[in-house]
Amino acid sequence: MKAEIIAVGTELLLGQITNTNARYLSQQLSYMGIDVYYQTVVGDNLNRLKQAIELASSRADVILFSGGIGPTQDDLTKDALAEVLGRSIYIDPASMEKVASFFEGRDITMTENNRRQALVIENSHVLANSTGLAVGIAIEDKEKYYIVLPGPPKELQPMFENEAKPWLLEHVLTDEHPIYSKMLKFAGIGESALEDALIDLISAQSDPTIAPYAKEAEVTIRLTTKAATEKEAMTKLKNMEAQIRDRLPNHMYADQNISIEEQILLMMTGMKLTLTAAESCTGGLLMQNLTLIPGSGNVFMGGVVCYSNEMKEKMLNVPHELLEGENAPGAVSPEVAEVLADEARKTLDTDFAVSITGVAGPGSSERKPVGLVYVGLAERNQPTQVFELNIRGNRESIRVRAAKSILYRLWL
Ligand code: ATP
Ligand code: MG
Repeated sequence: MKAEIIAVGTELLLGQITNTNARYLSQQLSYMGIDVYYQTVVGDNLNRLKQAIELASSRADVILFSGGIGPTQDDLTKDALAEVLGRSIYIDPASMEKVASFFEGRDITMTENNRRQALVIENSHVLANSTGLAVGIAIEDKEKYYIVLPGPPKELQPMFENEAKPWLLEHVLTDEHPIYSKMLKFAGIGESALEDALIDLISAQSDPTIAPYAKEAEVTIRLTTKAATEKEAMTKLKNMEAQIRDRLPNHMYADQNISIEEQILLMMTGMKLTLTAAESCTGGLLMQNLTLIPGSGNVFMGGVVCYSNEMKEKMLNVPHELLEGENAPGAVSPEVAEVLADEARKTLDTDFAVSITGVAGPGSSERKPVGLVYVGLAERNQPTQVFELNIRGNRESIRVRAAKSILYRLWL
């Protein structure tokens, strides 16, 4: 089963938006065991769109569209597909009712063009839009399968998951076993080091398949398998998980899709432990990441953004001699990271405190290189530990990684 994704939109060709829908759909299809052979991008132009559909129909079995199904005149995906398939296109009354009631409910007059959002093609299956107005469609035509989805990712993703995927399973993958998958999460290791450790397993493309990907300083592995029963699938997934865990015992922190922050909070909540933080170069990012999670207040007591030396001195009693002067180690130093963690912990009398001080760039500071970061970890009745990190990347990724790295130490 070969698939092609056609992303429609001149904005994509102009580089104004990134084609994240193609990435999302490619990932989803690969989890389903459907191979994507081509990704096409085409502008909002009827003729070129028709050419793209004809080409895709000649080389793929499943063709997915993203975008161009809204109300405006440049939204042409359904018109082009109807013309290529030689089918008629009409306003679906049930879908039209939903569009109309959306406007009535809000007391806004509906302009005529909004009717286009209820367009469907003859003999198609309507894919409901739970987060927007334009309906999607699924069509089987001469043993080819066409799925038309909206452009906005917050509409495309639920429509794919809840509407298109079941349709594909029913119509396209009929004689295959269902797919089961499991996520494993890793910290304190980069994507390439993780791949190195698992290269033979990954390249064997064994069953289950192993798909690693990195996002915002966390690495995720998705294990996917097909099996006749759930029990058989779980056994296969568990076996592969055990092999992977054996190879990376210090890095796998969860066997489900949760962030390192969530994992730390779960663990500390369970053990009734409390935490505070002193952040310099990350400016509160770690605290932001923690407090985004509901229930974090049971563990995280608050902290200090000590961006300037003055703040470090006044709020956290860092001795002036450590920060400034001929032979001072400076703000970005193991000495200062240690005092910051110690003092933060003592101030609130928490069980743990973390500190972060470093050079996020783009310029160097204190004649220290960009990416040099010290993270401190203070624990009640234990010696305070300091770790040196040398993070490559731009200012943003240095900050993100620094904030995640110290949590990994806490998890260990
Ligand atoms: P609308 O009803 O909003 O007009 P549509 O289905 O017609 O939706 P488009 O007009 O093509 O879709 O795109 C609407 C918006 O959706 C774009 O401005 C962009 O923000 C987002 N979008 C479109 N295509 C993609 C894509 N391939 N990847 C990520 N985002 C996209
Ligand atoms: Mg549009």
